[in-house]
Amino acid sequence: MSNEWQNRLATLQERIARACESSQRDPASVTLIAVSKTHPIESIRRFYDLGVRDFSESRLQEAQPKIEVLPGDIRWHFIGHLQSNKAKKIASLFDVVHTVCKENQIAEMRKAERPVDALIEVNIAAESQKSGLLVSDVEQFAEKHLEWEQVKFRGLMTVGPISDNAADMQPYFRQLAEINRKIGGSWLSMGMSHDFEVAIQEGSTHVRVGTALFGAR
Ligand SMILES: *Cc1c(COP(=O)(O)O)cnc(C)c1O
Repeated sequence: MSNEWQNRLATLQERIARACESSQRDPASVTLIAVSKTHPIESIRRFYDLGVRDFSESRLQEAQPKIEVLPGDIRWHFIGHLQSNKAKKIASLFDVVHTVCKENQIAEMRKAERPVDALIEVNIAAESQKSGLLVSDVEQFAEKHLEWEQVKFRGLMTVGPISDNAADMQPYFRQLAEINRKIGGSWLSMGMSHDFEVAIQEGSTHVRVGTALFGAR
């Protein structure tokens, strides 16, 4: 069993390295975030023992007991819907929040007792059921919040539209990278199990991979 985990991680790291190579990027410029939502503490610990230090969760209630018992050198990334009434707590437990898109979320996160890295979530294909800012609103929102103080703005994040063909994502990822450059962001959180290679080719610095590591949820 432990070999199986090791193989999955090695295969994934190899694919990331190859995607970097094909776009002349340093593999060290891409952080692999293991998306551990719905998976138990023991599974997280297996990947921790294999050297993974970035994990992400999408629900505070599920994440809190995991964060409490797992080693303190894990960087926890919040990738779920950011409810304002939980934003302060989330900012105090997590190291990076990927899903900021509203004023009142920032106000709440500022009340946390420590600084937190933050990304603005962009609804890149303007899908009605998705959260995140529309492309047309990103620049103004980012400008207004350049001085976020404790909430340190790092860049943009997106979950692209669902498609069977990862190549379909390329124009969306390219557009997100362009906006990120324009507003001076340095991190770019894009790419999941089925499309991280395309995302890396378009400049992703943080790929969020669940299924390809942990198996199906
Ligand atoms: C669940 C989730 C992922 C991981 O998706 P996989 O397809 O399992 O790799 C990435 N990003 C977000 C925002 C998610 O909610």
